[in-house]
Amino acid sequence: MIIVGAGPTGLMLAAELRLAGVRPLVLERQPRPRDTPKAGGLGGQILELLRYRGLLARFEAACTGPMPAPRFPFGGVHLDFTHLPDPPMHALPLPQQLLERLLGERAGELGVDVRRGHEVTGVSQDDDAVTVDVHGPDGPYQVSTRYLVGCDGARSRIRGWAGIPFPGTVYPEVNRLAQVTLPDAVTVLGNGDLDVPGFGTIRAGFTRTDQGLLGVGSSPGSRSVSLYTIEDEAAEYDDDVPMTLAELQNSVHRVLGAHLPLAGSTRLSRFTFKARQAERYREGRILLAGDAAHLFPATGVALNAGLLDAVNLAWKLAADLHGTAPAGLLDTYHDERHPAGARTLLHTRAQVALRRGHDAAAEALREVFTELLADEQPLRRMGALVAGTDIRYPMPGAGHHPLAGTFAPDLTLHTDEGVTSVADLLRPARPILLDLAGRPELRETARHWTRRVDLRTAKTDDRPADVLLIRPDAHIAWAASVDESGDTATPALHRALSDWFGAP
Ligand SMILES: Cc1cc2nc3c(=O)[nH]c(=O)nc-3n(C[C@H](O)[C@H](O)[C@H](O)COP(=O)(O)OP(=O)(O)OC[C@H]3O[C@@H](n4cnc5c(N)ncnc54)[C@H](O)[C@@H]3O)c2cc1C
Repeated sequence: MIIVGAGPTGLMLAAELRLAGVRPLVLERQPRPRDTPKAGGLGGQILELLRYRGLLARFEAACTGPMPAPRFPFGGVHLDFTHLPDPPMHALPLPQQLLERLLGERAGELGVDVRRGHEVTGVSQDDDAVTVDVHGPDGPYQVSTRYLVGCDGARSRIRGWAGIPFPGTVYPEVNRLAQVTLPDAVTVLGNGDLDVPGFGTIRAGFTRTDQGLLGVGSSPGSRSVSLYTIEDEAAEYDDDVPMTLAELQNSVHRVLGAHLPLAGSTRLSRFTFKARQAERYREGRILLAGDAAHLFPATGVALNAGLLDAVNLAWKLAADLHGTAPAGLLDTYHDERHPAGARTLLHTRAQVALRRGHDAAAEALREVFTELLADEQPLRRMGALVAGTDIRYPMPGAGHHPLAGTFAPDLTLHTDEGVTSVADLLRPARPILLDLAGRPELRETARHWTRRVDLRTAKTDDRPADVLLIRPDAHIAWAASVDESGDTATPALHRALSDWFGAP
């Protein structure tokens, strides 16, 4: 089993596969971990999953700044959850280099083999295997594998070799983001404005000109300032080619007509907005995840989507490799994650419409939207949309419990051994049949699967169902309604166990 790419998606997938008892080989073309800045943080549903795996505290401890207020940009307006006691969305200020270091450490602890400096140069497949051409530090070699997952980013060559189209739109808009140090010649005024010799004042906050937008964020007494420019520019940049200080200065000059002297930088990054989604996430024995599968035209959501792809895919691939997967299990990866990606595309495209217009009609749209977001119900709904917590995976067949296909809530569980929780039970990423109502006939049905599914009995306040069948990715595969008769629940559970975890 080969993973191409040791970015966040590839590393997460590798770790999840190890939990499921598979030893993947990760091939990464870069000889060293990334040092160009990309994401500044991650947020949404994946944080809850990381907590369920016992990893969130470690990730929080590595954060570079204080936990941000739950307030997120949404296409030129804001989703402001600061007045809600239980905000529907959170984010961690964890720069991507740190995130990758943590995911790499986790993969290392679990014994993942990551080969750096090994570039995949060609891929072909037949019914039985994928043949992979690799160029490593000692020259070219070939390996063959049962499955290959392309976690090789936006410009995925795996996607191209697999013949998977990647339709969509590139918006002619370039964003440049930097944390810079000012030279002594530039003065930071008391109100945060910058006094630039030969030009005059550059205002703190956002300045819009006919050429674009400049954002300046400064704090009193500090010579470290954040700069942000947006320009309409049709060029397509490669995210892996770093931005230079001169490129940023030229952009500020085009937007404002000012030459801003800069002494140095601690962060320089550039991003463009694309709306693209792979037509299929699977072609035979080749699968796609992360940026290789989708690109969204708004910030702050891509890592959530990519890491959740990895978590969804890992246990299904593992079941296939162990020979226990029921027919069609691997196809549910596309069936579940493609619509989830499409939903993220939906709201990020809506953000483009909200953000890009500068005429009176666009201003009016933003105003109406802001008015709607003043009410709690639409605000919560938008929060769930952006966090990806409103996703309900499609469940084949009819008559499912309303919880089926949703992310399992973190119930507090009282057991004979003491108090535990759904989060604690899901740490090893094994499927669980959780009996919350003392239903021996259902536990008896599940006993034929005990090598693959853990059986647990517990009590919880306000039980949402009598029994929950929870998949390793924390999604509910099946649930028995409160007081549902054994006559209907027993055969339905048998079917659900067979459908998700194979023949007894
Ligand atoms: C400036 C910027 C800011 C961003 N901010 C955010 C943010 O705040 N929040 C957020 O969620 N997302 C953000 N993103 C998006 C986020 O960085 C990506 O979604 C994320 O990197 C995708 O991870 P990935 O593992 O799928 O792909 P990548 O990170 O692109 O990793 C792919 C890996 O595959 C390797 N590879 C490629 N081809 C081959 C090959 N042939 N052989 C071997 N290895 C190969 C590459 O070297 C790379 O290491 C930002 C992106 C940019 C550019």
